[in-house]
Amino acid sequence: MMNENIINEYKTAGTIWKTVRNELFEKLKPGVLLLDLATFAENRIRKLGGEPAFPLNLSINDIAAHSTPSINDKATLQKGDLLKIDMGVSVNGYLADAAFSYCSEKTPLIKAAEAAVAAAIDAIKPGLRVGELGGIIEQAARDHGAQMIINLTGHGIDQYEFHVPPTIPNIASGSRETLEEGMAIAIEPFVCEQRTAVRESAPIEIYRYVTDRPVRSPDARIALALARDTYKGLPFARRQLTSTLSPVKIALAVRELERLGALVSHAPLRGDAGTPIAQAEHTMIVADPVIVTTR
Ligand code: MN
Ligand code: MN
Repeated sequence: MMNENIINEYKTAGTIWKTVRNELFEKLKPGVLLLDLATFAENRIRKLGGEPAFPLNLSINDIAAHSTPSINDKATLQKGDLLKIDMGVSVNGYLADAAFSYCSEKTPLIKAAEAAVAAAIDAIKPGLRVGELGGIIEQAARDHGAQMIINLTGHGIDQYEFHVPPTIPNIASGSRETLEEGMAIAIEPFVCEQRTAVRESAPIEIYRYVTDRPVRSPDARIALALARDTYKGLPFARRQLTSTLSPVKIALAVRELERLGALVSHAPLRGDAGTPIAQAEHTMIVADPVIVTTR
């Protein structure tokens, strides 16, 4: 069983997530500047005593994930856009990773994604096979007329670590891995109208520290130290380095660091062109009953 103090850190991260989620929701309407949503959420998380565990992901329509505003981004939400808001909160490295979708027009996809994650929450207990859980998620989405993005999955979570075993499929699978009491996990179905897969796309804004490398450029050394010490290996966006480096220097630094293998990039993940994708996600601790920290 997970230590009670650690459970409380996860719950604190979840409480911050819920507060900022509700505040963000009030701001969602056509015309809102995406960059304003991102900076608002990231500042509010800090104000409430957490750290953003990754830059606010604002992924629209056929982009499933890993999109975040660029430096001085002027993009606004358009009427009818299907927006995925994926937000991460860290409290001493204990993470809340959860997401919701918004559209100014009626779309059954959002309800399907929410029903799929709700069905998972109802089913989760220690000993459940993740392949069976994937089938439960898929069936709930299909019952609401939606189909799965087959190559995006839920995942285990650990301190300062977003993707640890088990990988939790959103489709029925033969995986015999099981959920164990005390595991922190995120369940995150992505749904669309036709069953499909996502591929890496552009432009890339999100990076993460991997390892130290000898670097010649002082700017790259600064960016590497920020990635390692300030962001502690968690994902960050180019725009989050602008208080220290100019946009041009950031571009050169992250390019050099990625080439050296010191940073890894997270490209936007895109589905079939022009077909909207909805997502819902919650973080939880496996127990009987399950402890959902972000709901
Ligand atoms: Mn997420
Ligand atoms: Mn996640």
